[in-house]
Amino acid sequence: MEYFFLFIAVVILVLGFMIFSRLSLKFGSGKRENEIFRKQKTEDGKVDFVRCPLCNTPLAKNEDMFSRIYRPMNTPDQRMTVHGCPHCYPKLEAGVKRICPVCRKDVPMDGELIARLFNRTEGKKHVMITGCTVCYAKKK
Ligand SMILES: [Zn+2]
Ligand SMILES: [Zn+2]
Repeated sequence: MEYFFLFIAVVILVLGFMIFSRLSLKFGSGKRENEIFRKQKTEDGKVDFVRCPLCNTPLAKNEDMFSRIYRPMNTPDQRMTVHGCPHCYPKLEAGVKRICPVCRKDVPMDGELIARLFNRTEGKKHVMITGCTVCYAKKK
């Protein structure tokens, strides 16, 4: 009888260890996944993911936005167009929607966001989305 209880105790120990190691493995990989995403400081000092302004997908460090900056380069306020990120341009991934952050309407594949790029003196660039090809044209 004593041996039986010892056996049960060992089984519980082994099971517990297996569950624990699996949990810590899960936790570990989640942490690593977090590290590949770009982060930025928001206006109120919090750290948030860098997201695509069109489809709101968090961007990994090796993913770049497709954007175009117009000349002249030396003005403090440049015009910039944003076509999308690898998740929404040139092909739309399943479940991803291209929404304009200004008018909240769908932006077509051949449409783009219009933004102003402020070159600040401290070297930080600031991007302000002014609209998409649909609502920006209407405003003008
Ligand atoms: Zn996108
Ligand atoms: Zn719009």
